[in-house]
Amino acid sequence: MKARSSIPQSVKEFQSYLAELYGQVNKKRSSDYLYGYLSRSVAYLGKNLAQNKVDEQHFMRALSWLFSIANYYECDLQKCLFSRFPAICPYCLTGSCICFKTKKQPVDFIPAYKASKERSDRFNVFTNTNRDWSLSSAASTLAKIYPNNEIIWHHAGPWYLVAKMQEEVGELHEAISKFASGEKSISAIEEELADTFAWILSAWNIAFPSRSLDDAMVDYYYQDCPVCTKFPCSCIDRADRAAELIDPRVLERIRSSLEELEWALPAASESISQLRQSVAAAAADQSEPTTLHALRETKGALTKIREGISATDDVAKRSVSIIDSIHKMIEMLPWS
Ligand SMILES: [Zn+2]
Ligand SMILES: [Zn+2]
Repeated sequence: MKARSSIPQSVKEFQSYLAELYGQVNKKRSSDYLYGYLSRSVAYLGKNLAQNKVDEQHFMRALSWLFSIANYYECDLQKCLFSRFPAICPYCLTGSCICFKTKKQPVDFIPAYKASKERSDRFNVFTNTNRDWSLSSAASTLAKIYPNNEIIWHHAGPWYLVAKMQEEVGELHEAISKFASGEKSISAIEEELADTFAWILSAWNIAFPSRSLDDAMVDYYYQDCPVCTKFPCSCIDRADRAAELIDPRVLERIRSSLEELEWALPAASESISQLRQSVAAAAADQSEPTTLHALRETKGALTKIREGISATDDVAKRSVSIIDSIHKMIEMLPWS
């Protein structure tokens, strides 16, 4: 077993740590494979942000695939991010973006060739003065440049930010494709990695303002791979856990609990048998309409059955505990 490096303190160290954890398995994978998972995890992050159901893991997954792509192309994500956003917006060149006023032009007139030098000078200054390269500091740097993101979110919801995040993931694919065909250099990928990273960081800052992103990443990834529980990861390809699509294994667990309940409560066996058949039908065809229908039906009917249980003997207690556990299983499902 490989020794783990010490707890990462900077974006760069997180990238190296994730290379230690996933480098071995990712070496055998294609860029399309890694990109596919980034695209999926950012889409699910967006969906859960929009539905106000986001948790830390949605961010962790999106960031880890982004780091994997950076490792694949040997891009230094910390450098990509801060050279693009050296505490100023790369378009209007101010510390608090006013692109909406200048239409993405520098606030004071400056020819384009000089603007590019201005950006690299600012990056040099930033590099020489900045002492904190952590993920949290990256997120707060972005928040200072783009305070309007949070204002828009609070007035109009997360839609704008979600759309921008998706846009960058699309542009990253274009950069990867054009790099592969020889039409663009690696700097196109570096730029799009930085933009995708920036929007994920902005969303994190608004969604979890008081939680350190570094602590969240350490909690999630520093104790082995969260899926195979090994260091380095030895997950087989496509071994990811089901997230947003219907998982028939959970439906099977609900079906078998209903069977148990049917035996425990013979008085209600007819209606429980109906529920069991509905859940079995959902597990068989795995379609969303059948599954949602079966789960709503089960939830409603079991609530009524539970209210009707007045005895306090062991059989009644057992039945109530089965019903509670089914309710819990249903509540935990992201797709119910
Ligand atoms: Zn700007
Ligand atoms: Zn693994």
